[in-house]
Amino acid sequence: MEVKSVKAFGAEGATAPLRQLTINRRITTPHDVEIDILFCGVCHSDLHTARNEWHNAVYPVVPGHEIVGRISRVGSHVTKFKVGDLAAVGCIVDSCRECEYCKEGLEQFCEPGFTGTYNDPDKHLPPAQTYGGYSESVVVDENYVLRVPGNLDLAATAPLLCAGITTYSPLRHWNAGPGKNVGVVGIGGLGHMAIKLAKAMGAHVVVFTTSESKFADAKRLGADEVVLSKDPEQMKKFTGKLHLIIDAVSAEHDINAYLRLLKVQGALALVGAPEFPLPVHAFSVIMGRKSFAGSPIGSIKETQEMLDFCAEHNITSDIELIKIDQINEAYERLLKGDVRYRFVIDMASLKNTN
Ligand code: NAP
Ligand code: ZN
Ligand code: ZN
Repeated sequence: MEVKSVKAFGAEGATAPLRQLTINRRITTPHDVEIDILFCGVCHSDLHTARNEWHNAVYPVVPGHEIVGRISRVGSHVTKFKVGDLAAVGCIVDSCRECEYCKEGLEQFCEPGFTGTYNDPDKHLPPAQTYGGYSESVVVDENYVLRVPGNLDLAATAPLLCAGITTYSPLRHWNAGPGKNVGVVGIGGLGHMAIKLAKAMGAHVVVFTTSESKFADAKRLGADEVVLSKDPEQMKKFTGKLHLIIDAVSAEHDINAYLRLLKVQGALALVGAPEFPLPVHAFSVIMGRKSFAGSPIGSIKETQEMLDFCAEHNITSDIELIKIDQINEAYERLLKGDVRYRFVIDMASLKNTN
């Protein structure tokens, strides 16, 4: 298969800082588009993977699955995009297309497994892995590429492709809306999107944070109430009060303290993916017939629906724009919860590195 060399930024080992690399991208096949990447969001999953915290990294890892760019080339059979169009890529770049879930348009549940945007076997260029958006360009089958609404800031749109859809999908699944009390745990990239989206859906939003310094922001983002989760007195006030909790915490924490806050038959949907298990006491879920659930990203169709919802409600991410050579520092800040509320890489900065 014909390939071209592309500049990228990635990690060559779990303890290696990210640095500039050269990777191969396939030349567009008939159903592919090539996208010149303008902006790429920095998800905590990028860090988990680059540092092998999920024990599945194959190096080099080139992270990045919150991609916004412009189409630079289209294959001969492409119908949905033309050169010059804006386009976006999220966490999924391919799937089997044949299993019951793919047929239903639920690629996130693809039986043999969807192809992740990075760190998954590349069907086109074996034995290479897929490489993500910390790169100049990416080549993706048009069926896994999203349309970018025209009215949104492009850099602030990038995080919708993972942080947006990963919170939108469970909010919709568990019917967040008027009359529902929705808790959001952790105000990072995912959490701050959950607040904005739940508010726009009409829910009463209660935010739980370990950072007192984020209280004012939480209100500005749409929280009706904000709770310092380290203070048991403040937590107690919400015992049995929440219909749904979206837990977007990236590290170990006491899940039982949140299960206690659910109403009878309420659900806690874990979207955060900490490295280590979160022990659940039997009686945290038995009493009140509560559900401790989880939710992965979202389908291509639902991602487009979410982008259109955001365009309609004028929702984007609150971002701090960085240059690619600030990525290692950004990871250190993510670990400290010091992000307001998503780092986005201005990919023009990669062109200037050598
Ligand atoms: P992030 O921006 O780093 O935010 C995580 C937030 O969690 C922090 O801002 C902090 O909020 C809170 N937190 C961090 N350490 C904590 C600790 N030790 N105890 C309690 N709270 C703590 O991360 P993100 O990009 O939003 O991602 C969050 C998690 O979701 C990651 O594990 C990521 O891998 C996962 N994820 C899952 C999916 C999926 O498909 N399910 C998709 C994307 C990401 P406060 O300061 O407010 O406490
Ligand atoms: Zn992500
Ligand atoms: Zn499938």
